[in-house]
Amino acid sequence: MPELPEVEVVRAGLERHVVGSTIATVEVLHPRPVRRDGRGASGFAAALVGQRITGVRRRGKYFWLALADGDALLGHLGMSGQMLLHEPGAPDERHLRVRFGLRTPDGPSGPGRPMEMRFVDQRMFGGLAVSAGGADLPSEIAHIARDPIDPAFDDAEFVRRARRRTSAIKRLLLDQGLISGVGNIYADEALWRARLHGERPGDRLTGPVLRGLLGHVRDVMGEALAQGGTSFDALYVNVNGESGYFDRSLDAYGQEGRPCRRCGTPIRRVAFMNRSSFFCPRCQRPPHRR
Ligand SMILES: [Zn+2]
Repeated sequence: MPELPEVEVVRAGLERHVVGSTIATVEVLHPRPVRRDGRGASGFAAALVGQRITGVRRRGKYFWLALADGDALLGHLGMSGQMLLHEPGAPDERHLRVRFGLRTPDGPSGPGRPMEMRFVDQRMFGGLAVSAGGADLPSEIAHIARDPIDPAFDDAEFVRRARRRTSAIKRLLLDQGLISGVGNIYADEALWRARLHGERPGDRLTGPVLRGLLGHVRDVMGEALAQGGTSFDALYVNVNGESGYFDRSLDAYGQEGRPCRRCGTPIRRVAFMNRSSFFCPRCQRPPHRR
């Protein structure tokens, strides 16, 4: 599943290549990815044709293309979504769902040229929708908190709010209303680095401990971002959820039975909200009962 750093890589790549371009054509090849747009596939297309893209922004794992009339094209990659940029005529992907024909702006080096932006999604949990008036922040996602690599994220506010909650710290890290974009993998990795058991309640943690944890969340995300960014110079934007980062750099997530890199104790796995949590039972002590 694409995690936040990969969505940021997509956002930055789109920003570099599509801002200033005009949407000339929209071809919806499967209705499911535009199911959240009440206008249906043809209405979705009609709302976008002729629009100029003025920016590419992000809140958590949602990204949006701001449009010149104040609307936005809002997107989520779901489990398997990709946004790809191609020269026209490149072979179609097997799971191509929506094709946008773009025209880049005229410039000093000559007239604009055509380019394709494609939404490819095998499992189709992701999707695209037009958000009316959403250029600055789509109302559909206004309830989602900023993420820790957003420059406007408020650390003090996060610490204050987390310390008022009795929920387990791992649940708080996954609470999109408190902090967005921290998926299961990053939560486990940051908790391991902070030597914190995920079941520790927020109101039993000190401010410095929570600030330290936030620092580890940022470090983990920053390392993934740096790796995702290196393969991203060509005119090709790709997120497939199979970043090499997850093979090489994980200390806790998916490491059940392997020795902890700090103390050698085998990493343990427990069930957590229909998923799993991975932790070192020696470095990350469970909380005492209240
Ligand atoms: Zn350990």
